[in-house]
Amino acid sequence: MNAHNPSVNCFCNFCGHPLRFQISRVGQAVNCLNCMMETILFIPGLQSPYPEDRYLLHASEISWIQNQFGLRKISGILTNKSGQHLDWVRVEFILYNEDSLPIGMTSDCLISFSAQSAWTFNAPVSQAEAARASEPLLSCEYGRIMRPITGNLAFPSAIEMQPMARTH
Ligand SMILES: [Zn+2]
Repeated sequence: MNAHNPSVNCFCNFCGHPLRFQISRVGQAVNCLNCMMETILFIPGLQSPYPEDRYLLHASEISWIQNQFGLRKISGILTNKSGQHLDWVRVEFILYNEDSLPIGMTSDCLISFSAQSAWTFNAPVSQAEAARASEPLLSCEYGRIMRPITGNLAFPSAIEMQPMARTH
């Protein structure tokens, strides 16, 4: 233990595993010992070591899709607006039932996201009682993206599910 360079704890931005590091290493990218994904060391409670334009993402065309077997998913397009390669990106949705009670989450993840590229995500929804979803929760190796840009094109605060009607 070095008094001039004390250690602090943060957690992996991918899996939440605790990471202990010397405070002078804040902002460095490391690979998590638990999930091996890249994650940026940060000091919990303080501002992210990088401005958000380093990992700017744009989510659009979010919709519910049901395939011929009745399996549902939330699909959409995520665009990397940051101008730099991201090691990974994850999109998550909180699922709600008819009574607006949270019943679970769904997510999709992309490893290696090139600058200015677009990715069509598909988050499977196995819970039959899921009626609505939250706005997309986006994260990458830099952590949670607090101000995701969402397309203002017909994007309500909560995404309504398509009716469970059977396809004919
Ligand atoms: Zn991890």
